[in-house]
Amino acid sequence: MDVSLLIQKAEQTHRLTENEIVHILQDEAADAALFAAADRVRKKYVGAEVHLRALIEFTNICRNGCLYCGLRAQNSRVMRYRMTPEQILALAEKASREGYKTVVLQGGEDAYFSTDVLTPLLRQIKSLDMAITLSIGERPYEDYAAFKEAGADRYLLRIETTDRALYEKYNPGMSFDNRLRCLHDLKHLGYETGTGVLVGLPGQTLRSLAKDILFFQRLGADMIGLGPFIPNPDTPLKNAPAPQLTPALKVMALTRLLLPDINIPATTAMEPLEPDGRLKALQSGANVIMPNITEGEERKNYALYPGKAAAAPDSPNLREELDKKLRSIGRRIGTGYGGHKK
Ligand code: SAM
Ligand code: SF4
Repeated sequence: MDVSLLIQKAEQTHRLTENEIVHILQDEAADAALFAAADRVRKKYVGAEVHLRALIEFTNICRNGCLYCGLRAQNSRVMRYRMTPEQILALAEKASREGYKTVVLQGGEDAYFSTDVLTPLLRQIKSLDMAITLSIGERPYEDYAAFKEAGADRYLLRIETTDRALYEKYNPGMSFDNRLRCLHDLKHLGYETGTGVLVGLPGQTLRSLAKDILFFQRLGADMIGLGPFIPNPDTPLKNAPAPQLTPALKVMALTRLLLPDINIPATTAMEPLEPDGRLKALQSGANVIMPNITEGEERKNYALYPGKAAAAPDSPNLREELDKKLRSIGRRIGTGYGGHKK
């Protein structure tokens, strides 16, 4: 199989078989051609705008024990925090004043944030005329419906890996079927639904990554957020091999080729591995950045993996600095809500 012909086929038809994807993932010689094709498809379908989403990491309390994550309930070395709804609203207001049109509320699975606590907050944020993305894990259908009714527009829930055995190994006590149920509920409720995977989990194969990409296509995902798995010294996966950026970029570029018009963030986990890792991602298919506007100690304590807080510096001129960087690669900050352009 000629890999450059496969890349050409994907660029023109947005279709590949599982074997064809594996072939491209295996071949290192064609990486530059793959990234360039994804960049052209990004330009053709979603243009030069890079949409900014203000990320608020509002609780690091989590009932789950995902083996890869520093926020897992069993990790006693992390200082736990939970923002008040007033603190969250104040950050959303600040984001709105700074010109952000979307706020992303992300956190561990923290039972304190019931629908009674969250829905009034969502209504208040909505009154700021912002799109709201939630990323707070698995919930019953009724909760997702209540959040939607209160103004949430989008939801991010990574499937993490579509390899059921691997999923259940790394997410003890959680069920792959429930994860799928959540994603289908979110689609059914009309959320712009985002999912994604960790790339580089021990035991994950290229075939499994190929199946992940085809899953995104089958689901009809509106956004895909994926990134390298970065081992955290306070978790059971601390001795996993060092993370690499390129495999994650390749999965991302293939995702752009097969789902040409979706939103794809250049994720924070891409930054600690290579300087300007996120800029590289923006030139390999990504069209979204999620600047972290969480402040102070909370920002330090949302410690999923080492280097995270330092990777996205807390700067009062974040937007201007980003704007400058984006212009240097022929891109610009998006002006609208930046929803999925179908
Ligand atoms: N609790 C929610 C959930 O799991 O969907 C949202 C917050 S969770 C911290 C967000 C994402 O962080 C997860 O979907 C996972 O892919 C990612 N993550 C966790 N640990 C990581 C690590 N060590 N390296 C890279 N990403 C990680
Ligand atoms: Fe909790 Fe999400 Fe981390 Fe899993 S990945 S431990 S659900 S915060």
